[in-house]
Amino acid sequence: MHRPGADPSMMVPEDFLCDFCMHHWTPKRPMVEGHRGSLICGSCLTVAYTAVHVLGTGEPAPDGTTCLLCLSHKDGPHWQSDAVEARPRVCADCLNQAARQLEKDRDSDWTRPAGP
Ligand SMILES: [Zn+2]
Ligand SMILES: [Zn+2]
Repeated sequence: MHRPGADPSMMVPEDFLCDFCMHHWTPKRPMVEGHRGSLICGSCLTVAYTAVHVLGTGEPAPDGTTCLLCLSHKDGPHWQSDAVEARPRVCADCLNQAARQLEKDRDSDWTRPAGP
């Protein structure tokens, strides 16, 4: 998300907040953008990707809830953040897409968590 009160014409790294942990953007904390300005950082992506795609501990989203990045209700496993009050979810598809995007990002040294 963009920091509430941020000036859209003068955005600084501190104005870009990960929706899943509320840390702001830094060179060591790359971010991927979802729909409507939602953001997930590399650290959350690592944790989420590991849970859903490596360990298989993701959980289905209850009816009526949506993935914060694609704003859709998806079947299949999700990761849910407990670091922020809204406890947002992200779906397995978005995690794959975000992982591909960060791997291509030359400014980031993010790598996909390897299998067990
Ligand atoms: Zn985060
Ligand atoms: Zn999604």
